[in-house]
Amino acid sequence: MSAPVQPVRGMADLLPADSGTWRAIEDQLRDLLSAYGYRELRVPVVERTELFKRSIGEVTDIVEKEMYTFADRNDESLTLRPEATAGIVRAGISHGLLHNQRQKLWFTGPMFRYEKPQKGRYRQFHQFDVEALGFQGPDVDAELIILSARLWAALGIDAVTLELNSLGTPESRARYREALLAYFSQYENALDTDSQSRLHRNPMRILDSKNPAMHEIVAGAPEISDYLDDESARHFAVLCELLDDAGIAYRVNPRLVRGLDYYSRTVFEWITDQLGSQGAVCAGGRYDGLVEQLGGRPTPAIGMAIGLERLIELYRVCGGAELKSDPDLYLVAAGEGTLPAAFRLAERLRDERPGLRLEVNLGGGSFKAQMKRADKSGARLALLLGETELAEERIGLKPLRGDGEQESVTWQALPAALDQLLQ
Ligand code: ATP
Ligand code: MG
Repeated sequence: MSAPVQPVRGMADLLPADSGTWRAIEDQLRDLLSAYGYRELRVPVVERTELFKRSIGEVTDIVEKEMYTFADRNDESLTLRPEATAGIVRAGISHGLLHNQRQKLWFTGPMFRYEKPQKGRYRQFHQFDVEALGFQGPDVDAELIILSARLWAALGIDAVTLELNSLGTPESRARYREALLAYFSQYENALDTDSQSRLHRNPMRILDSKNPAMHEIVAGAPEISDYLDDESARHFAVLCELLDDAGIAYRVNPRLVRGLDYYSRTVFEWITDQLGSQGAVCAGGRYDGLVEQLGGRPTPAIGMAIGLERLIELYRVCGGAELKSDPDLYLVAAGEGTLPAAFRLAERLRDERPGLRLEVNLGGGSFKAQMKRADKSGARLALLLGETELAEERIGLKPLRGDGEQESVTWQALPAALDQLLQ
């Protein structure tokens, strides 16, 4: 026997025991987004490397160390998408969806980052992305947050808190940058290598450092709120009022800068203390300059991304039940001539009761062996078709969970009987 091929580190399979919960939560997200007027836009897994360099920024963790970049057979530099916003904006520009229009979009799929794999941090992970393009805000900023709060409530998640900040315009950021540069320069020798290399290139990134040794220095740094332009300060104040009015609690965190370069004004994160150190479940912000930066006309925009692995883990930690995709029914067909009748009956049921989950026993076997499989399938009811039932055009109904009695009904009466039993 040859050795089995190993999976790629940090890239997980989603097994059937878990896929029911994933599926149900993804469906819930889709329904929620369409309830708020968002439509799906799908982008490719691969984009030109240049797209991410121009949008996320050269001096960021993602572009510096995390991208899966390769040359294709034509020597073109391509990258597996590490996030979705850049691709969505690229698609919006490519298809003329943004000029003089407003778009509320969502997207979900795997993202790829070459990180150190650990709980809540993978090399392939999944995001649910929401983007609103062509909106100045702050109403849309508030609505995005209200929408995410509704999701937590729907999933029974209560262990999240909202952190909020405003990064202002590029001009106010530039003034803040100067202040940070002056401040961190005093501690140049105490900075770690990463922070030293960012000092002159992008000192705001130092605020985002995950190194605990940097925390004390970071704690004394100037705060962006002192450098905000009036317009951004007003924008932020209205957002806060709208959230107050909606009854959503938040903490203004002046150190929240977010890892990507393209943010402006509103930035936010939903964080939890229930998932160890990977505590950010959802993160987002306004990126008013990005569309223009990528070659489109100036278009204000805001977006957020929910990390699905962390969301689903948090759902479980908060006591959420596994949402199964087990069949409702398992059809046992034992005896001469029963299989074709079982197929016919099953097809009729599928016609009459769309959505019913019905598994027909395959591969024959004795009545006993088939009942064992029925039990293992997780179905709530077994349908029993033997030679006697076939002759009488009847079928047995046997509850597999709880202690209901077995009964027998005509084929004609079967759908109505199932409606009763599967309520
Ligand atoms: P972190 O600070 O945890 O590295 P980030 O700022 O890099 O997060 P974003 O780019 O904002 O993350 O992505 C949005 C969300 O996607 C995060 O809040 C998180 O829930 C999830 N996420 C990001 N990276 C990973 C990863 N490697 N594995 C699993 N989930 C991730
Ligand atoms: Mg990261």
